[in-house]
Amino acid sequence: MIAFNTPISGLTRVGEKTAAQFKKLGLNTAGDLLFYLPFRYDDFSTGLQIAELKAGQTANVIGTIDLIQNKRSARRKMQITEALIRDDSGYLKVIWFNQAFLTRTLKEGDEISLAGRITDDYGQLQMVSPNYEKITSADILHTKGLVPNYHSTEALSQKQIRSCLKQVLPLAEKVEDWLPENLRRNLNLIDLKKALYKIHSPKESEDITKAARRLAFTELFLRQLKSQSIKRELQNLKATPITFNEELTRSFVAGLAFPLTGAQKKSTWEILKDLGKKMPMSRLLEGDVGSGKTMVAIIALLNVAAAGRQGALMAPTEILAEQHFKTLSHYLYKYDIKIGLITSKHQEVNFELNNKLLLTSADILIGTHALIQSKIIIPRLSLAIVDEQHRFGVNQRHTIIKTGDDVVPHFLSMTATPIPRSMALAIYGDLDFSIIDEMPKGRLPITTSLINNKNRAETYKFIHKEIKNGRQAYVVCPLIDESDKLGVKSAKQEFEKLQNEIFPDLKVGLLHGKMKIKEKEQVMADFVKNDIQILVATSVIEVGIDVPNATIMVIEGAERFGLSQLHQFRGRVGRSHLASYCYLIPTLENISNPKTLERLEALIKYHDGLTLAKIDLKLRGAGDLYGTLQSGFDESQISALFDFETIKKARDEAAKIIETDPDFKKHPAIKLKLGEWEKKTHLE
Ligand code: ADP
Ligand code: MG
Repeated sequence: MIAFNTPISGLTRVGEKTAAQFKKLGLNTAGDLLFYLPFRYDDFSTGLQIAELKAGQTANVIGTIDLIQNKRSARRKMQITEALIRDDSGYLKVIWFNQAFLTRTLKEGDEISLAGRITDDYGQLQMVSPNYEKITSADILHTKGLVPNYHSTEALSQKQIRSCLKQVLPLAEKVEDWLPENLRRNLNLIDLKKALYKIHSPKESEDITKAARRLAFTELFLRQLKSQSIKRELQNLKATPITFNEELTRSFVAGLAFPLTGAQKKSTWEILKDLGKKMPMSRLLEGDVGSGKTMVAIIALLNVAAAGRQGALMAPTEILAEQHFKTLSHYLYKYDIKIGLITSKHQEVNFELNNKLLLTSADILIGTHALIQSKIIIPRLSLAIVDEQHRFGVNQRHTIIKTGDDVVPHFLSMTATPIPRSMALAIYGDLDFSIIDEMPKGRLPITTSLINNKNRAETYKFIHKEIKNGRQAYVVCPLIDESDKLGVKSAKQEFEKLQNEIFPDLKVGLLHGKMKIKEKEQVMADFVKNDIQILVATSVIEVGIDVPNATIMVIEGAERFGLSQLHQFRGRVGRSHLASYCYLIPTLENISNPKTLERLEALIKYHDGLTLAKIDLKLRGAGDLYGTLQSGFDESQISALFDFETIKKARDEAAKIIETDPDFKKHPAIKLKLGEWEKKTHLE
């Protein structure tokens, strides 16, 4: 009898070697295998009589082997196995290449099931290299219906995985669903047991959707439980209320060179209102690249400092932290606010330190992740802001919130990653939202074009002219060092080439992640001052960098970046009233992958992040959907399976449980599951 803990080596026809392959996939027991989900299906559900076949079809054919033999092809020195298959309606020729061993297992008279494409060979229909299986029992596993495919190792065949799964699938009978039945009914979800049967052995494509929904719901619901319990914890915590300093805020805003946009005002107000409460704020500020999130953060921090409390602003990179330090020092210059920069290797202040500790004396601390990860204590911290929040996992968010003991800081995270409403709710169920859905006045759309090596020279000429007119440019490359054989550009080589050959009369700079922080700072400072006109960089400039005078973005190896990343790169320009340009240069002249081309064309056509995010989702598609279910789920896939209403219901159900039964006394199965999940996702 197979049990959940039966080792895979205990299955029929699995030796130590095969078991070792399963182990590579992280599968040790029958139970592990039962929850190992397919990532796609072959559709062999068109079962046809031989006489009905047409060229171009993918079909399943069942018949008897009338003849099978190996031949050697004269010209190409290839082994060819030829077979003639017969059913009641006629004969079909089948060939395989270099699989001479087939004649050892497949014999004349054997019943066989075949799946593959029908082709036309000079007027005669044939099947080339089909999947095959000998029919020994009533079950056909590999060649009929919807056939699952699993991520595998080279030495482990799909057939082996399927045969093993067939052995363990009856275990599903013993699987108890940890989701309460009323909740399942309420959300229209099938039982876990059924879901396992359907995902491994679907009868129709609807089975797959239903099963995937139930299996993905696990991740969705556990996240909601987690979010709701964080929310509940927060409600029981205290924060220091920050009084809104109206006079100061008004005079600060009046002193700006530009009016705030309506959306900036609204978001700022939502944040200031939250800061005034005794309950800690937990809010996400979302706004497209260049929408002016930093200003909102500055006004909040100004109010915190004026109240005699401390604020912290954290960025994903040192370069960005450094830039924030400069920006805040600049804007808050008149207000006598002490600002400190602290990264893992480096400290800097805009005031006299007087031997006092930086952490105690600064009003505003700016840093990288280091600020969170080190166990430093900022004694009067009342507001923690995380810029470009999508880089931070749930747990990091949690760490900041826990910085204090019983009094915790208010928390704001900022992101340019546009996420559809349903996804936001699925991922950030514990946060409130402020959205900047309006760009500052006078911004022009960034002219985006696809460049090939033929019009490269022309483009360089144009760039040269723009720079002579006072503008600046970025050139992004996919690699730091030497380019590989495929001709992918590296920042170092491109820097040499542009400086020495293309623009010898201009100053070109180089920036990449492996440089020392001092060097990076110097390069950025020179670029800001326009002492460097062209900055060649790796993806280190992906987020946040703000040099409004830069109006040209060249992206080398553009096919190697994802759509949202490209949108982020492009967002480095178009940050003022000046006309800006973005040039996408793929490594090869001809882009062979239609999806890549579609991605680049979408960028040319659309300019707002949300539209691009949706296209990105569509292009990446549900193809790998079931595969991503494996490791929980890819956040971007959730909206493919659940609508907003369902997610809201899930959240409400989770809230109900957390409210009425916070220790899961009445829900032991949920408690167990949540514990496992937390352990698994701990390192995220
Ligand atoms: P992001 O939202 O991408 O972080 P930033 O805060 O860096 O954007 O702002 C982009 C640029 O727009 C900055 O140079 C900033 O000074 C400028 N900016 C911010 N708000 C406004 C506004 N209301 N009007 C005009 N320019 C603005
Ligand atoms: Mg920013």
